[in-house]
Order: sequence, then structure tokens, then C-alpha cells
Amino acid sequence: MRPNVLYPVTVVGSWPRPVWLLDAMKRRSASLPELQDQATLLAIKYQEDAGVDIVSDGEQRRDNFYSFIADRLEGIRLMTLAELLDYVEDKAAFENLLNALDVPAFAIKNPVVVGKVRRRKPLVLDDFHFLRQHTARATKATLPGPYLLARSTWVKGLSESIYPDADALGDDIVAVLREELRELADAGADMVQFDEPVLSELLLAGRSATRTFMCAALAASSSPEGELERAVSLLNRVVDGIHGPILGVHVCRGNWSRKEDVLLAGPYDGLVPYLNRMKLDQFVLEYATSRAGAPAALAALNPKAQVGYGAVNPRTADAEDPEAIARRVRDLTEFVSPERIFLNPDCGFGTFADRPVADAPAAFAKLGALAAAARILRRN
Ligand SMILES: [Zn+2]
Repeated sequence: MRPNVLYPVTVVGSWPRPVWLLDAMKRRSASLPELQDQATLLAIKYQEDAGVDIVSDGEQRRDNFYSFIADRLEGIRLMTLAELLDYVEDKAAFENLLNALDVPAFAIKNPVVVGKVRRRKPLVLDDFHFLRQHTARATKATLPGPYLLARSTWVKGLSESIYPDADALGDDIVAVLREELRELADAGADMVQFDEPVLSELLLAGRSATRTFMCAALAASSSPEGELERAVSLLNRVVDGIHGPILGVHVCRGNWSRKEDVLLAGPYDGLVPYLNRMKLDQFVLEYATSRAGAPAALAALNPKAQVGYGAVNPRTADAEDPEAIARRVRDLTEFVSPERIFLNPDCGFGTFADRPVADAPAAFAKLGALAAAARILRRN
């Protein structure tokens, strides 16, 4: 079900976790499941009160947007970036990169394939049921994308005895995500979003040897074009023949730091031909940050594709002016017709549990600004 309004307001996924939840996560408290339920109820309430039309569960049960798979899949081990340093060929360069990029190497954990990958329990289906039971609004479930999973969890020296390369791992990742997507569709998810932040990195970091930390564990790639082809193919294999929810992909330029200058910069233009070949309904993109370039890039998008238009920046303190958001959306309608436009923040508010880019009051104010902009736009 799509909300029966123009400019539906939604989120990219994560909500900042309350301190008591972070504390319980750190202590591995026995009451963690109940506290996660409570935090999820709060995240839902904040979104509903702000006027969000399509709500998520706030990803309160995740350490970050993809590391949580370690709890739910067999064959995955969590390693900090500091531990992974041992498997990186040029350690000094990698360490310098992490420092320059303002990445907390000891805090952020990366899931690594160390055994045959299969579901131990659903990735997000149980979380989705909880969301569905506690809101009357339309719902969005978020999943790490198949390209991100296949590429970033395969680490030379740790994974190759099980899978000779990331492509071999890709087959099992596709199977896991298809199973999950089918179940989410049956459970009534209104939208399912795959997170593939690495795609912009392939495009914007290009052939340069300097990769951001998201790609630190990636196998030496053939070429950015070859990698983007892989991403298109993996996503299309996951969604093939599965219908029901709005199927989307989120591509941003990183959300681990509030220092805008350490995050990637560059427009989506080069990515659009690849997005057009993905058998998806919606592209959830950043546009609040000037680093994403002009929305004219979207003129080349498949004319049926929906755009999740990033209209507030989760990394800045003050909420955007609804009138200014509405003006920008009207400019966007030159390239994308109104019935194709959804409004969302540029990225999650709490992508990494320990390092949310916003606190709850700021995130609430920003979602409120999006909803106010939607009301202005719907009036005329
Ligand atoms: Zn993002």
C-alpha cells in the first residue's frame, strides 16, 4: 500500500538510539530484547508524531546498518576495522586513511565471512512484524544490499577457503536476500529498501587507490564499471519475480562523520545509466547536501522511476526551512513528475549505533520540516 497522498514522507532507516539502549548493548544486558522493543516503539512514535507517512523500525536492534547480519546469519564473524588491519595489504596507508576520514577504527565493526553463509534466523522479518503490529502507517523495511554484502564481507585470507571469491559468495547472498524479500512481501511490507552506499564510492573514488573505509575490505576490483555491472546484476537477481512492496535502493556518499569535507563529493549523473537497468521502483538519493550535485541528473532517469528525494541533511544541527524544501521540490518537478517524488532525509540519523549523526530532538525537527514541506506542496 502506498500512502494515498502526493509527496509521501519517509525515512532512510535508522533512528538515534537512546543512551539506555546503547548502554545495554555495551553491557550485553539480559534485558536487551525488551529494551530494543521499547526503543523501537519510541522511534515509531517520533516518526508518527513528526508526520512521517511511511515509517521504519528505526533499526534499533542493529549495531549498524549491515553488521547486524552477524547475529542472524551463519558463517559471519564481526571484526573491528582495527582487527581487519592485519589483513589489509598496505596497513600504514589504511590507518592514515581511517584517521583522515574521521573513522573510529575501534568502534565500527565489519561482518566478515568465515563459513558457509545461510540464515540462522530471518534478517529483518521478525523486526518487521514488530513494526507492523505497532503502527497503522505504511511501512518500510531496510536491508543491506547484495553488492555491499558480497563485496565487503569477503576478505582475502579469511573467506577464501569457503568461497574462492566474492562472486561465489554472491550466489549465497542472493539466496538469503531473496528468501527475506519474499517473506517481507508476504508479511505486507509497503516498501523494501536495499542499502548500497558503496555504489557512489565506486563511481566517485573511481580508479584511485584511495578508498574510503566502506571499501577497505573489498577485493581488488576489476574496474568501477565492472563493479557497477556486478551490483546491477546482483540486485536484479534478488528482486527477480518478487512483487508487492515498492522496491528501492539507497545510494549516498557516507554518513559516518559530521565533517562534510571528509565525505565523498560528486553528482549522480554517472550512476543513472546503472540505476536505469535495476529492476527497482525507487531510488532513494541524497540531495540536501550540496556534495550530491544538481537534480538535473535525474532528467535521465527512467520516466517511471520514483525518486526518494533527500531534502534534509541528517548531519546538521538545525532543521531546514519547510518553504525552502518546498521550493527545491518544485524545482525538481522540472525533471521528475510530482507523483514520482517521495521526501526523505539524505541518510539515516543513526547509521552507526555509537556514532549517531543526530540526536532524537534534531531528527524529530528535521522530519517535521519534511512533513511541513509536504503539506505546503500538497496545497498547491
Ligand atoms: Zn546513506
